[in-house]
Order: sequence, then C-alpha cells, then structure tokens
Amino acid sequence: MHDIYEITPEFLREQGVELLLMDLDNTLSPYIVDDATDGLKAWIEDLKQGGIEPFIFSNNKGDRPAMFAEQLNVEFVKLAKKPRQGMLHTVLEQKGKTPAQTAIIGDQIYTDVLCGAIGGLYSIVVRPILLHNPLHALRYGAEFPFRIFAKQKG
Ligand SMILES: [Mg+2]
Repeated sequence: MHDIYEITPEFLREQGVELLLMDLDNTLSPYIVDDATDGLKAWIEDLKQGGIEPFIFSNNKGDRPAMFAEQLNVEFVKLAKKPRQGMLHTVLEQKGKTPAQTAIIGDQIYTDVLCGAIGGLYSIVVRPILLHNPLHALRYGAEFPFRIFAKQKG
C-alpha cells in the first residue's frame, strides 16, 4: 500500500475486520507534525461510519498518541512495545475482539507488521510518510538546527 488512504472500511469489512490498530508516527502523521490534517480526520470518520473502530496503537512514549487521539476522537495506547504481544493482548481483551476481527497498519516491518504477524492479525504496511514526501523531508532538514536549539533551551 502507498498510504492509509487506500484503505476503505468496505475493504476491511470484507476481511472480517472490525478493529483497526493504527501506528501513529509516519503512518498517520509525519513525526514532526502535531496536528491531524483534515484528510486524516475525514478518513477516520469514514472508517467509523463504515463500522470499523480506528484505534491508535503506538510505540511512542511521548504526548503525541494522546494528542492525536483527542483530535481524532479515538482511543489510544502508547508505549505499545510492538512487536511484543503483551499490549496487543490487553487491547484485544478490552475491546472484546479476536485477532481475526482485528487489523494492524503501520510503516515498520519489524515493529508494526511483525506484531500483527505474530498475533495473527491482518497486517498492512504503508510507506513511511516522511520518505515519500520530499516537502516534509525538506522541512525537517530546515527545522533541524532549531529543534536542537529548542531541546537545549528546554
Ligand atoms: Mg511508524
């Protein structure tokens, strides 16, 4: 898959999926962007309307998972420790879903996809947003010195 927007609720329902565990960084949003785009919000809404529950399942240990969860009005887990299975099992139990009713989507083979493969989920890999969007890469390069400066200051 090129990106998340190729995934439709109809497609997921055809696979028997009801719960979609979504990686955050470089899957839903570039790592350096803190605001959900209108396109992302619309895609999430489309999933919900189509009977799929989107759920942020992130290894990020910072504030980003909560920030995006609030903007998108979805539940989230941070520090998921993908590809480990502990948090995955916890979420499936809480949501009352089997692995066959659950899909995972992400940009990393050895975290997102491996987590799904071990757990028996329908696993979807997308290209990392940063790598296929030169504008974001450029912006990251331009921001880099300031990010270091901000870190030292903060
Ligand atoms: Mg990622």
